[in-house]
Amino acid sequence: MIDTLPPLRAVIARHGLSARKALGQNFLLDLNLTARIARAAGDLANADVLEIGPGPGGLTRGLLASGARHVVAVERDARCLPALEEIAAAWPGRLTVLHGDALALDPAAHLRPPVRIVANLPYNIGTELLVRWLTPPQWPPFWQSLTLMFQKEVAERIVAEPGSGAYGRLAILAQWRSTPRIVLRLPPEAFTPPPKVASAVVHFERLEAPRFPADAAVLSGLVARAFGQRRKMLRSSLRGLSPDIEADLRAAGIAPTDRAETVSLEGFCTLARILAQR
Ligand code: SAM
Repeated sequence: MIDTLPPLRAVIARHGLSARKALGQNFLLDLNLTARIARAAGDLANADVLEIGPGPGGLTRGLLASGARHVVAVERDARCLPALEEIAAAWPGRLTVLHGDALALDPAAHLRPPVRIVANLPYNIGTELLVRWLTPPQWPPFWQSLTLMFQKEVAERIVAEPGSGAYGRLAILAQWRSTPRIVLRLPPEAFTPPPKVASAVVHFERLEAPRFPADAAVLSGLVARAFGQRRKMLRSSLRGLSPDIEADLRAAGIAPTDRAETVSLEGFCTLARILAQR
């Protein structure tokens, strides 16, 4: 038992929180599991935690029981608010619940650094939020770490190495500015209701400066082009990015006949610097 609140099944029954597919609702009801996810997020005692999509509050309870200094939870479904208010009452002054769409709402005013983001995300907005968190106007960003649930395939794309079919834009964006690693794998049955696919939790610890120098917009545009046509040789997928793309590729140590999948993060950063000088 991690707190004195009722079991989550009872909370869900009492508040009529039948899962809604449109909101990506697959709940975690095992509080041992949510405590494990909270522990994977690092030292919470000296951090504010931003949680997206708390739902009935299983992970929220894990975060609070793990000693999080303050949790700010953003939930879109108004039906969940009374259950979350009960958790706030059990942990006075430690939980702030914000009702709204995480894609539209800016919680910054409620958070004190260091900020750790922890979420069992709705799958339909997970990738979009991740890309936003990895591509802010300024680096370092407002967050110290991210600990996020994804579909297993997305988690594997984030940690993928060159040469694998999963390697692409997500791997480059994530590995350029953070150290992502898979910390937990979960079968569909871990959730209620079970989703169709397996899931995995990825923990990202931010780097204070990107791993290799490059302009974020140039790198992002380059990688989008290169992997947009991942089966093509780079000299054709990148044609038009520079007056002499073959020379630029060679100057970056990349063969013009290579495909995007084989180019390292360092190779893309070198090419981005050359393109930025053009
Ligand atoms: N964290 C809970 C858990 O682990 O049991 C619920 C996870 S469930 C996969 C995703 C949650 O995100 C749901 O509670 C859903 O209502 C909420 N949600 C969906 N879209 C959202 C959005 N745009 N902004 C904030 N919350 C959203």
